Amino acid sequence: MTNADAAVIAPAAKATDPEILRRRTFAIISHPDAGKTTLTEKLLLFGGAIQLAGAVKARGERRRTRSDWMQIEQQRGISVTSSVMTFERNGIYYNLLDTPGHSDFSEDTYRTLSAVDAAVMVIDAAKGIESQTRKLFEVCRLRDIPIITFINKIDRPGEDPLTLLDDIASGLALDLVPMGWPIGMGPDFRGVVDLAGMRVLLPEEGERNAPFGRVVPIASLSDIAEIPGIDADIAARALEGVELAQGALSTFDLQAFREGHLSPVFFGSALRNFGVEQLLDALGNWAPGPLPRVAVQRTVYPGEDQVTGFVFKVQANMDPNHRDRIAFVRLCSGRFKRGMKLLHVRDGKYMTVSSPTLFFGQGRETADEAYAGDIMGLPNHGTLRVGDTLTEKEVLKFTGIPNFAPELLRRVIIEDAMKAKQLNRALDDLAEEGIVQVFTPIAGGRQILGVVGVLQFEVLQSRVKAEYGVPVSFEQAPVELARWISADDPAKLQKFVDAHRGEIATDRDGALVFLAESQWMLKYKGEKFPDIKFSALRERGE
Ligand code: GDP
Repeated sequence: MTNADAAVIAPAAKATDPEILRRRTFAIISHPDAGKTTLTEKLLLFGGAIQLAGAVKARGERRRTRSDWMQIEQQRGISVTSSVMTFERNGIYYNLLDTPGHSDFSEDTYRTLSAVDAAVMVIDAAKGIESQTRKLFEVCRLRDIPIITFINKIDRPGEDPLTLLDDIASGLALDLVPMGWPIGMGPDFRGVVDLAGMRVLLPEEGERNAPFGRVVPIASLSDIAEIPGIDADIAARALEGVELAQGALSTFDLQAFREGHLSPVFFGSALRNFGVEQLLDALGNWAPGPLPRVAVQRTVYPGEDQVTGFVFKVQANMDPNHRDRIAFVRLCSGRFKRGMKLLHVRDGKYMTVSSPTLFFGQGRETADEAYAGDIMGLPNHGTLRVGDTLTEKEVLKFTGIPNFAPELLRRVIIEDAMKAKQLNRALDDLAEEGIVQVFTPIAGGRQILGVVGVLQFEVLQSRVKAEYGVPVSFEQAPVELARWISADDPAKLQKFVDAHRGEIATDRDGALVFLAESQWMLKYKGEKFPDIKFSALRERGE
């Protein structure tokens, strides 16, 4: 069952606790540079969580050099306060989950998506869909996560809005419904029409580049042309665009949005505050509250009395002097109270949760209470791992934490053979964090490491040395791609494995992986062995 199915079934076991109902737990997905950080700052600003924009990350950090990044990686801790940002506005309690850092660290971002109930997809108006947007969108689709689209930077020259909508809709096979429309773009930018509210948002009088500050109600769209300061031809083009879009595109349907098939679209400028409040209102009004979560044994509903949750992210060695870690737990049901004893299902042991952390804007606080939908940080010494389930007593295992096929594969070379044991521990820890994937060839031989982006190898190398005292280097592996393999008929899978022993490895959880020397070879094997499923994605714990 997917989240969307669960959303449809949910009413029977729906939460009635207003504290749960008012939670909105979401993430922002985008390609680097589309404006995620700027939008995050503005959401926090409108949400009252920060006084001044610019607090999310200092301007100077924006274009980090590689060495800066390494240093920051070694210091750790910097990104944690902004991993979860909680703020309240108009009675809605927003949990914004972010995955700051270099675009290379995408597994982390993917895992974050397992803990949200909705996503905002930020698209640069000049660029349309980009590679990272597409990847992240596909993860959202896999989980039927409802998506609100924010087309950013309309104050800059960009694609024509209709062309953009068309490209996004066809590129992602997603129904789009514009909730607003830009009046001109780039140098012609004059403001935004709020189609649902029938009003026009304009910059402060006399200041073309100022943030939005004026609201003009309109009775009909043609009134746009009457607004002083909006040239007739710009108004005419905007009107024509809206009419064409409204004729060609769907109308808003809450159910279709919540099932992940339809996305409302806001045109805006995060930098200049256009569209940000409407986006927040849309999240508050339309995004679902905490959704039921699927466990192997049954579906868990947010309104259930007993507390349940799962770990979707672990951050290790935050303080170099202590081997402490923070496990980020998404609460799936119940009302958590500090000091509660929770069952760590994988271990079969109870743990007293005495110092859970909640994250407000830039700060952290020890939480006395938390509700389904909230994210708690639990300091621990390595007992909690990604994918782990916590409950009051029931034996449950939540699903939905994926591993993705790495894009780069290397072999690890250890300089001091005496340190093999430490290396194994380091790889195990860092695999847990999502920094690396470790594949062990079934025919023996050295482990093969997989990452999504090349910078991860450098981070890995520096952390293994700094935190575990093991100097390592990497060499090219004779393989290019890794794919998890499965088949409906276990005998056929076994036959394939037997015939390809030199190309098969197991991942950390023992799942079988085919290591292909090239894309061509993978395609060839796929055609030759139609009963074998080659998958670029695997659910953890399955
Ligand atoms: P991220 O990499 O997705 O977090 O993107 P940032 O928020 O760091 O933004 C990338 C660049 O685009 C920065 O220079 C921002 O100032 C700029 N930017 C973000 N939003 C807007 C916008 O609405 N209009 C314009 N003109 N620039 C923007």
